[in-house]
Amino acid sequence: MRSPYTYHRRQTHAVSVIGHENVPRVVADLRAVDITRMEDLADIGHTYDAITDKWSTSDQAAEFLYMGARPLPFMAPAGTRQLLDVSTWLGHDDHFYCVPVFTIDEWRSIETRHTVMNVVRCTSSDLTTEILHELAEDASVVLMIRSTSSAIFTDMRACADTMLAAHVHMPVVIEYHSSGDSIDDGILDASTDVGGLLVEGLGDAVMMTLSSVKGLDTATSIRTAFGILQAARTRMTKTEYISCPSCGRTLFDLQETTSMIRSHTDHLKGVKIGIMGCIVNGPGEMADADYGYVGSGPDRITLYRGQEIVKRNIPSAGAVNELIGIIKDDGRWVER
Ligand code: SF4
Repeated sequence: MRSPYTYHRRQTHAVSVIGHENVPRVVADLRAVDITRMEDLADIGHTYDAITDKWSTSDQAAEFLYMGARPLPFMAPAGTRQLLDVSTWLGHDDHFYCVPVFTIDEWRSIETRHTVMNVVRCTSSDLTTEILHELAEDASVVLMIRSTSSAIFTDMRACADTMLAAHVHMPVVIEYHSSGDSIDDGILDASTDVGGLLVEGLGDAVMMTLSSVKGLDTATSIRTAFGILQAARTRMTKTEYISCPSCGRTLFDLQETTSMIRSHTDHLKGVKIGIMGCIVNGPGEMADADYGYVGSGPDRITLYRGQEIVKRNIPSAGAVNELIGIIKDDGRWVER
């Protein structure tokens, strides 16, 4: 039984770079995306430079590319793996950097397997204890599960409970399909469902299939996936800002100040900065921030390291530089 009061990641074993203590991975669902040139992968964080003939990878780049039945027409960027439907994988030259994706029936009938990692894609309603035990006999299996219920969160949670009761520890990719009608609805639904599961310690990778949401492109799907992982505090890939909603006590223009602080610090991966309008409630509201920028009087700012005051009531004009100085003193500053 899981405790609702503490965070525990579901115990899994590692298969390649998925599961156990690996950060949750991001799978890009590219089955319906036309990819003909290397430059087409820029949307998912892999940028190809034709002059140097080199790839560069952003902090928010998908590690797995689900290509289905349409393999990339060029070699995938280093550090990525293509996921191919098993019938396509069998006919492909590369049986190492490409990973097969089976249905449960295919898993039972096809004997050729990848030596390290095999993905079995199934629905929540497929997962009986008997099937789980059958799949668990092979330590290379990664389950990719999509919910068949309209109550995705509770349905996937029930799957996790079934796996817990069956004592199986294979890693899980949460395959998420949004039913939202607009971009905002799609992102909100995904954040609630997938974010909730991650906060509960479930999921070793996520694949967002948001293409059914009108206007939502692959780049936004990938950004959403990384944003949800960051908000669930399971994988930090950018600076985190915690700002109060502002109220009658707010002592500066919160929006303007937040964007000014962001413009100086948004390259500090994993650093959490609280920006709070007043000193009455701000320090409590910024909870686990690494640094705090808190209004403490008209034109006055108090700076925090964690919950400890480092500079009290300094003029707001130089407060951002002072904040940067504190981050530098702590050895957490990097140049852009
Ligand atoms: S931190 Fe202060 S200014 Fe911000 S919302 Fe809370 S009470 Fe209002």
